[in-house]
Amino acid sequence: MGTEEREASPERLARNLAAVREKISAAARLAKRDPAEVTLVAVSKTHGEDLVAAALAAGQRVFGENRVQEAQAKFPSLKQRFPDLELHLIGPLQTNKAADAVALFDVIQSLDRPKLARALAKEMAKQGRRPNCLVQVNTGEEPQKAGVAPAEAEDFVAFCRGELDLPLGGLMCIPPAEEDPAPHFALLRRLAERCGLPLVSMGMSGDFETAVELGATHVRVGTAIFGARPKPAP
Ligand SMILES: *Cc1c(COP(=O)(O)O)cnc(C)c1O
Repeated sequence: MGTEEREASPERLARNLAAVREKISAAARLAKRDPAEVTLVAVSKTHGEDLVAAALAAGQRVFGENRVQEAQAKFPSLKQRFPDLELHLIGPLQTNKAADAVALFDVIQSLDRPKLARALAKEMAKQGRRPNCLVQVNTGEEPQKAGVAPAEAEDFVAFCRGELDLPLGGLMCIPPAEEDPAPHFALLRRLAERCGLPLVSMGMSGDFETAVELGATHVRVGTAIFGARPKPAP
């Protein structure tokens, strides 16, 4: 799982998607959850528009990208052809790209600091478009990683909702790569409950079943669907 060495062909991609969906359903049933509560975000970063089109043909509608510019190059025409396509930003967002992000994305999962929250609120008021936001929590408290510290999450959520009136739906995390993700997933879920937020985005190709068992409402899966990522352009 998640260790394919090549980018998937369209046929392979359809089989991968079906297998991932089946595993999500099985993990949900195991946890006595309704599989319909879990949204699969297909992470298409670095893959071409043709492969995204193949995923759309296989019925996938929710996609995740980590760079605003790359998503701007790939998605506007696809969004016109598929009005129910839902695009999530899952990577770090610079304040000077807030306007572009608000214009293009349906969900912004990487809200991680007051300055960005203010910029998003300003842009939403200006554009009249309100993409749902998730606060990224640095559950491992890794110095190099984005996200608010777990102890600060509640205050930050209150600030975004209260002072800025941002549309805030939930929390997101990327656990440290070398650690057992389960305690991080459990922590994120608890924090979301404490904040009264319904959405919990956690779990990637290597651990999405664990995330579903621990309450994920969104899993972000790239490699297990699209195969290995082509090397980014230098
Ligand atoms: C790339 C990425 C993913 C998907 O990772 P895979 O291991 O390929 O499934 C999920 N979440 C974020 C934030 C990512 O950047």
